Amino acid sequence: MSTAKFREETRVWIEENCPPGARGSGQIPFGSRQVELEADTALWLERMAEKGWTVPTWPKAYGGAGLERDYYEVLIDELKKAGARTPLTGRVVNYIGPTILEFGTDAQKQKWLPICARGEGAWAMGYSEPGAGSDLASLNTRAVRDGDRYLLNGSKMWTSDATLCDYIFVLVRTSPEKPKHEGITLMLVDMHQPGVKVSPIQLISGASPFCETHFEDAVVSVDDVIGGVDRGWTVGKRLLQFERSTHAGINISGSQGGRSEESKMPEWVGDYVPKVSGKLSDPALRKWLTEFEMNSHAQRLTQRRAIEELSSRAPGFTSSAVKLTNALNIQNGDELLVAAMGHQGLRWDVQTADQQELAVLQKWLYQKSLTIAGGTKEVQLNIIAKRVLGLPD
Ligand SMILES: Cc1cc2nc3c(=O)[nH]c(=O)nc-3n(C[C@H](O)[C@H](O)[C@H](O)COP(=O)(O)OP(=O)(O)OC[C@H]3O[C@@H](n4cnc5c(N)ncnc54)[C@H](O)[C@@H]3O)c2cc1C
Repeated sequence: MSTAKFREETRVWIEENCPPGARGSGQIPFGSRQVELEADTALWLERMAEKGWTVPTWPKAYGGAGLERDYYEVLIDELKKAGARTPLTGRVVNYIGPTILEFGTDAQKQKWLPICARGEGAWAMGYSEPGAGSDLASLNTRAVRDGDRYLLNGSKMWTSDATLCDYIFVLVRTSPEKPKHEGITLMLVDMHQPGVKVSPIQLISGASPFCETHFEDAVVSVDDVIGGVDRGWTVGKRLLQFERSTHAGINISGSQGGRSEESKMPEWVGDYVPKVSGKLSDPALRKWLTEFEMNSHAQRLTQRRAIEELSSRAPGFTSSAVKLTNALNIQNGDELLVAAMGHQGLRWDVQTADQQELAVLQKWLYQKSLTIAGGTKEVQLNIIAKRVLGLPD
């Protein structure tokens, strides 16, 4: 089928099948069995999963639609035009799913991927530990073989959304006697078992999306080791590239179009800024805004080029470069918005503040984390220097 015909058919299908409650902004489910979805959202997830469009580029045998990149882009474009919400997002379709596709055995793919594609269970990410963040290979959570299972002991830090998750993929130490990068394994763990305990970490904002996840003789089947015992550093780094390419807006595994929309100035910002004859009166702000618009455009073109050059669902080390520039550009946009709004961009009075103004401040603060999550800015710069530019250690 030509892409033009596919576009037309897709447009009509979305029009007929996307319920009103699944359009516009709002909750984007990530498949938690512990969250009851509103009716329209649940219906949208079900219809998209039936079509294979929660994971459009995955093979049909595993719950995808087997779309080539050109068709995938048409689909994303039409979903955006219709204002249709992403039916399923996050770690399940963007991180662990493509990792299982790349490294899993046939049996593992048959077991896990259809579950992922239908959004039957949310996944947490168990990488960081109290003593292992940037230096991830220092991790100490132990997995010891016990017959046809492993017993896990240790703690993971900053596990986002862990209270809502059903499964967790973890990097664990299987061979402590080996050099640190060579004794690590990636495993899939069911969180609904007595050996897994989750403690929310209270943040200054009062919200607790972060958790500490403890394993005390948690049980993992030997069948749920992904990519082989002691091969976790290779598998785990690839998963990080899937994560970083998601942050970069260039992961084509799930049915979302990336984060580029976040680097657009909202039109209403004009209401806050003094103008003379329709032009911003402050020349410094004008220059900043122009540069931001140019950088955002360049970022979008770079994302597009990166996607066009893909031979997989995500690129390798260039993910680090696009993740970093995307994060810096988004943060610059947040700074610009707060500056343009003047004192109204800094509303601390939670009870009385205008909600739109308050949201600007909260976003400005929250998105500071974009240069930490998924690997810090400094770590990305190290990767770019060594792996992309080939500079010496
Ligand atoms: C919003 C958010 C969500 C997250 N979600 C998860 C999750 O779900 N699961 C999970 O496992 N983790 C998660 N993390 C944790 C994240 O991966 C770590 O915070 C990150 O890897 C940094 O580790 P750290 O916090 O231990 O900082 P550290 O590694 O202690 O770094 C502290 C500082 O030292 C710098 N630094 C460290 N090493 C070097 C070096 N070699 N060269 C130059 N500078 C260096 C860093 O850049 C940083 O500025 C999340 C973090 C955030 C902010």
